[in-house]
Amino acid sequence: MTKPLTKEQKRKIYCVKHGHAKYITKCWGYVYCGRCGEQIGDQLASCFDTTKLLVVGCNKTPCFDCDPIRKSLNKMDLAILKELEAEMESELNE
Ligand SMILES: [Zn+2]
Ligand SMILES: [Zn+2]
Repeated sequence: MTKPLTKEQKRKIYCVKHGHAKYITKCWGYVYCGRCGEQIGDQLASCFDTTKLLVVGCNKTPCFDCDPIRKSLNKMDLAILKELEAEMESELNE
């Protein structure tokens, strides 16, 4: 019997099939895919353009970069985005 895929595995497979998410997280200049968590670039050596991406934790409201992307996300991505934002908030409150 094969084990069912974990949430993380399913997300990674989705990224392989469809490309990385349009929402990202940033840490020390490194850029990670919000969906699978893989590092997709860094802003240290090369300049990685995040203007067409939604940066999780961006608190500009309204944000002309993030808002159109947020609107284009499907249900699954919105759910992941909410998770990431909740995680980020709990980290800030620690
Ligand atoms: Zn990804
Ligand atoms: Zn923004």
